[in-house]
Amino acid sequence: MTAPLQTCDVLIVGGGAGGIATAASLLKRRPDLDVRIVEPSEDHFYQPGWTLVGGGVFRPERTRRRTADLIPGRACWIRDSVAAFEPKHDRVRLAGGGTLGYRMMVASPGLKLDWAAIPGLSGTLGQNGVTSNYRYDLAPYTWKLVQDLTHGRALFTQPPMPIKCAGAPQKAMYLSSDHWLRNGRLKNIDVAFHNAGPVLFGVADYVPALMEYVERYDIALHFGSRLVAVDGPARTATFESLDADGKAVRTDREFEMLHVCPPQTAPDVVRDSALAAAAGGWIEVDPDTLRHVRFGNVFGLGDGCSSPNAKTAAAARKQAPVVAENLLAVLDGGDPVAFYDGYGSCPLTVERGKIVLAEFGYGGKLLPSFPDWMLDGKRPTRRAWHLKAQALPEIYWAGMLKGHEWLAKPQRTCPPV
Ligand code: FAD
Repeated sequence: MTAPLQTCDVLIVGGGAGGIATAASLLKRRPDLDVRIVEPSEDHFYQPGWTLVGGGVFRPERTRRRTADLIPGRACWIRDSVAAFEPKHDRVRLAGGGTLGYRMMVASPGLKLDWAAIPGLSGTLGQNGVTSNYRYDLAPYTWKLVQDLTHGRALFTQPPMPIKCAGAPQKAMYLSSDHWLRNGRLKNIDVAFHNAGPVLFGVADYVPALMEYVERYDIALHFGSRLVAVDGPARTATFESLDADGKAVRTDREFEMLHVCPPQTAPDVVRDSALAAAAGGWIEVDPDTLRHVRFGNVFGLGDGCSSPNAKTAAAARKQAPVVAENLLAVLDGGDPVAFYDGYGSCPLTVERGKIVLAEFGYGGKLLPSFPDWMLDGKRPTRRAWHLKAQALPEIYWAGMLKGHEWLAKPQRTCPPV
């Protein structure tokens, strides 16, 4: 006999930034809703803090909390992971063996960091001078390398887009260079940025301020240059670029320090499911309402979605209330009522104590949270640094994950009832 199908009002897949924020926003609006969250990890991470860990500003523990302490009181945590989505049958299969049905589903499983896509990388991370702020356990190694390096070559890499927090690879580079400059070592350290993409930053308004720092730190920029292999013991990284005839050319570069931002894809469980978009394999949502384009009782948010916003926690902060409003409207038999404008934010830590605060929506439209006289995001400012180092972690833990929706009121198509 097969066990009866367990079912719930709302199933949330992923208890990261997007999942917990949506659960909190839903329960704030409707406290008696039956919400279950499938999340395998005992720990929850404030990933935006890892840049500051790698820059020696935060202790790593400041970015980690127990998942159990963050699940909203009235939600139920299922400590498992989804092994298969079956949206045609309104259910998911769990890795632990069970099956779970739902009336509505919110998918927020994040993305996959594809370390294995670069031969030689996985085995050498955390040693031989190879590091990455994209992992909790490695960000402290970044800071150790930065402190220890006195001369030689430091390479920073960025894979093809989309990636989460597209500014993070260069944030690590600027904070490291700033440390070396302040300690009089930068003149002996050759810093280079190998970016698979064609530009320093995707929104042109922020590039002039960033270029001032590229010049200050004398950083060599290599666009269209993709990391394809690492030999840790030999301290050699291999890059691929196209020559003038469009032919792929490989170049080996020796290094003392290598900071890698890994290639990123939709999670396999999403790519292999009916939720996936044909192009890219991300959860295919309507960019305005975040409702799935084929399955009306499914919503998606966060890094795993197809919407063309900057993949950031700041985006998830704005998306969660939109999903909560729209999901409840659909659950009640209506249509979505709230819109997401594509807002995402990338606080670029150009030096210790100053940040260029990029805030923009769909199509690169600038969406600053503050007027220029208060905080001009196109210039490096101390205010933006205080925002990132002091206010934003608090806005995350005490606001976003608790359903307070600070700086995140959803835009509605009709006035609130
Ligand atoms: P996550 O927060 O990654 O959560 C996904 C969750 O889903 C995880 O808990 C995971 O365990 C779970 N999961 C995965 N697979 C399954 C499954 N099959 N079943 C169930 N659960 C599953 N954002 C900013 O706004 N500002 C910044 O300055 C910033 N800097 C960053 C710097 C770095 C180095 C990094 C790595 C990220 C940074 N980000 C920043 C990005 C931000 O952290 C992410 O965009 C945000 O966490 C996305 O939220 P999410 O819910 O989509 O994914």
